[in-house]
Amino acid sequence: MRYVSTRGTMTPSRFRDILLEGLAPDGGLAVPERYPQVDRATLARWRRLDYPALAFELLSLYIDDIPAADLRALIERTYTAQAFGSAAITPLTTLEPGLHLLELSNGPTLAFKDVAMQLLGNLFEYVLAGSGAQLNILGATSGDTGSAAEYAMRGKRGVRVFMLSPHEAMSPFQTAQMFSLMDENIHNIAIRGVFDDCQDIVKAVSADLAFKAKWRIGTVNSINWARLLAQVVYYFRGYFAATASEDEYVSFCVPSGNFGNICAGHVARRMGLPVRRLMLATNENNVLDEFFRTGLYRPRGSSETRQTSSPSMDISKASNFERYVYDLVGGDGARVAALWREIDQRGAFDLAVSGEFARVGDTGFVSGYSTHADRLRTIRGVHQRSGRIVDTHTADGIKVARERREPDETVVCLETALPAKFEATIVEAIGQRPPRPAGLQDLEQRPRRFEVMAADTAAVKRYIEHHAHR
Ligand SMILES: *Cc1c(COP(=O)(O)O)cnc(C)c1O
Repeated sequence: MRYVSTRGTMTPSRFRDILLEGLAPDGGLAVPERYPQVDRATLARWRRLDYPALAFELLSLYIDDIPAADLRALIERTYTAQAFGSAAITPLTTLEPGLHLLELSNGPTLAFKDVAMQLLGNLFEYVLAGSGAQLNILGATSGDTGSAAEYAMRGKRGVRVFMLSPHEAMSPFQTAQMFSLMDENIHNIAIRGVFDDCQDIVKAVSADLAFKAKWRIGTVNSINWARLLAQVVYYFRGYFAATASEDEYVSFCVPSGNFGNICAGHVARRMGLPVRRLMLATNENNVLDEFFRTGLYRPRGSSETRQTSSPSMDISKASNFERYVYDLVGGDGARVAALWREIDQRGAFDLAVSGEFARVGDTGFVSGYSTHADRLRTIRGVHQRSGRIVDTHTADGIKVARERREPDETVVCLETALPAKFEATIVEAIGQRPPRPAGLQDLEQRPRRFEVMAADTAAVKRYIEHHAHR
């Protein structure tokens, strides 16, 4: 398998060459040169596999430069009942007839990002040990990516993490979860700004190719291909759990921000998984919903980004969206590069004007959005009917799924976090605190380790120089 860039000018590369990279040298994102096709007979065989075995089958289609025995061992070490709470790893529960919940949030930081990040930690350590190299991971987080990355990389040999987060914008639980890590290889940097400011700094540092090479800067943001790939696995698992045979179709509803999670669903569908529709749910920051309704993609600046009660979706520039657009324009890298130049020059592009928007229907995408009031109503309604407490992001998905679901359609809603992470809104919705997994009762009382800095790329670079491996 070779990987190319969405902007068309990267030399085709193998998995290990793109694993540690952020943006491709031409500013695009790495994509496989083709999507391996999975036929019905293979699906029937995969249906019977447990999570690690399925993950191995799927990942080996895209990773052919790690010996199979090593890859298998690494996957088996990652997806354990101990780390994810059950041997199913991502169990499926039924909310109401035709509407299921795929639990993705039973890993160490209680959000779906653990599923990919735990694998990434082991992949990074494996590849770095093989080459004796060191890596400085620079990331931006609105809460969940950062904690998932830090819990996946803590104590890993050869790896240091520099994680930027918007100062005082994460939930108290998320903040405590990250800042209480005392591992020497973990650096928390709170930026005076919003998430997009953090992401802009990461992009600016990564665009300085000399700095990036000298300090061996890597990334774990959702543009990382290995993360996206690891997420494809649970679409297959979710499909198998919700169906009895390969003749059935299933739709997925995905609370979305950076478009990483739902892009994995798009990849699963492109591989031949019988996915009827992909329902994208946003919160009040509805830049993606606007695109799927109108064809206009208009990323917003940080001044237009609202802080909401589903904060991990407070994102107005969807970094993975470019991979989807690449497919939509038929894999034409020059066209993608032109579209992103249009964003730089005019702030937006409009695929309705060019006619390319008409192809969106073939990709199965539909969308919707949710407000704070919808979120509270959904959390309350689900709790009253089933006794289950869902988190705010998951509630956004359930709201859109109910709105969009057709009478004969089976919809799997992805549970992207546990409610314990967003206690305040849960209390506002149902007047009681969500249960907290064992061992996390005293989280907010633990000592903290973090640095507050201005939204200033040069200052962040100086900090990295001071603390990085050479
Ligand atoms: C990251 C995150 C999302 C958004 O996922 P994307 O892959 O960025 O679209 C949604 N919900 C929760 C809880 C998250 O942590």
